[in-house]
Amino acid sequence: MHDLVLRGGTLVDGTGAPAAAGDLAIDGGRIARVGGQAGPGRREVDAAGCLVAPGWVDVHTHYDGQVTWDPYLTPSSWHGVTTVVMGNCGVGFAPARPDRHQWLIGLMEGVEDIPGTALAEGIDWQWESFPEYLDAIARMPRAIDVAAQVPHGAVRAYVMGERGAKNEPATSDDVAEMARIVREALAAGALGFSTSRTLLHRAIDGEPVPGTFATEHELLGIGRALGEVGHGVFELASDLAPETAEFAWMEKLAAETGRPVTFACLQNDFDPEQWRRSLAAVDAAAARGARVVPQVAGRPTGLLLGLQSSFHPFATHPTYRAELAALPLAERVRRMRDPAVRARLLAEQPGPNLPITQFVAASLHKLFPLGDPPDYEPAPEKSVKAMAEREGRAPQEVAYDLLLARDGRELLYFPLLNYAGFDFAAIHEMLLHPRAVIGLSDGGAHCGIICDASMPTFLLTHWVRDRQRGPRLPLEHVVHMQTANTAALFGLADRGRLAPGLRADVNVIDLENLRIDPPEMVFDLPASSRRLVQRGAGYRMTVQHGEVIFEDGEPTGALPGQLIRGAQAA
Ligand SMILES: [Zn+2]
Repeated sequence: MHDLVLRGGTLVDGTGAPAAAGDLAIDGGRIARVGGQAGPGRREVDAAGCLVAPGWVDVHTHYDGQVTWDPYLTPSSWHGVTTVVMGNCGVGFAPARPDRHQWLIGLMEGVEDIPGTALAEGIDWQWESFPEYLDAIARMPRAIDVAAQVPHGAVRAYVMGERGAKNEPATSDDVAEMARIVREALAAGALGFSTSRTLLHRAIDGEPVPGTFATEHELLGIGRALGEVGHGVFELASDLAPETAEFAWMEKLAAETGRPVTFACLQNDFDPEQWRRSLAAVDAAAARGARVVPQVAGRPTGLLLGLQSSFHPFATHPTYRAELAALPLAERVRRMRDPAVRARLLAEQPGPNLPITQFVAASLHKLFPLGDPPDYEPAPEKSVKAMAEREGRAPQEVAYDLLLARDGRELLYFPLLNYAGFDFAAIHEMLLHPRAVIGLSDGGAHCGIICDASMPTFLLTHWVRDRQRGPRLPLEHVVHMQTANTAALFGLADRGRLAPGLRADVNVIDLENLRIDPPEMVFDLPASSRRLVQRGAGYRMTVQHGEVIFEDGEPTGALPGQLIRGAQAA
């Protein structure tokens, strides 16, 4: 008698092999049988008409704080994710000297737009060292598995104090001490090391993430720890400037250590062919024996602009700042609907702006109503600017009125990256690149402006089923990309495939009825802080380590998730 039998589904095993009808049987948290007809189970689930696939392994998240108070790690777990890797992009909460807690919160708040109020209230600092942080996470019950990378920003400030936090150059002694701490973290179970080399990532005080300007001496000095310990990934977000120098050190590090180096690979509007050069550099490095892995996304990095978001096209207008910004939403909407206020705001120029808000304000041809169901690949004629031209109005007017829709809860979609061509042609090519690994959902992060944690679901709804504006992707490829492929990058051979003996992390998916809802702002973080979330439907069941954790979108209360320590054998 099996513990659980998923009967008669379409098995998509994660390897990329063709889908096949059959049963899946689970015993003691492990997969017992794949395909054919399984014997009876204590619980039997009719999976006919559904896909049965491995749980998603999402390797690019920022749940480092949330992991300490939320056993469910939503929104990711609502979308079939059964394993998350956090600690990306050089930010996280360990190691942490007691007098650095507020500073680490400010670093995370600045870089990842996670409310500092939530982090301050939510985190119970039961650690100083990285191993102690892992122990604290391991003690807490949770629904899904988590793994952590050790972040450069925290390590640098821990070792170098204010010099490190303020991006002063590291001495050889500093580098040796940082490498020692990273070795210690890897030995305790960290799955890698991460750093940030982009000026877009700044602490709340405006300082770039510690390590942003690290020299090759520092990067290789720390990175060699991965080679010495023999596991782990070196992850980075980089402006790739200068490009050749960046790829040179990445390749050198990967070749020398034998460990993969993975970087965020996205298309930007200012150099829309740069991603092609990155992929060419990756191929060239591979030909020379170095594993440099482009981390690609399944859709654009989607800014969601609304009256409750971190910013919107009128957020810096003098009248908005002085009279409206502080009002409760309902009152703000009422005032903004007043024709006199509307006319005044529309006549004003924006106040001092960040480069990003300036870019958005100047690019209303890239601003779209997201709609329901959300349209993440809208044609150019659907933009606010195109609407305005058709209606003979100013684009600002159209944006203003759209923001007031749904009682001020409407969100406008601004595809910041991966949308230079106004379609997904570039993403399509990236998703098919043989060395690419999917990531960049940024689960848990950018709470006030981005919500791409639903990307795993979107890969099925859009890329497999619905896409109209270009070719779709094979189901088996899409499942492989977010299961066996992501798991393999981090050495997690015990998951990501449906095979006897592997962990029974499984999704049962009604593909025909799978959907993602429009994102919405909720105030459910600690201290009632805000975050964008996105729900959906169509996951009939998510099984974690043999236990059903979600059934038809509802948590069952089972908490079989664990901390993953280090690479895992099959
Ligand atoms: Zn990130």
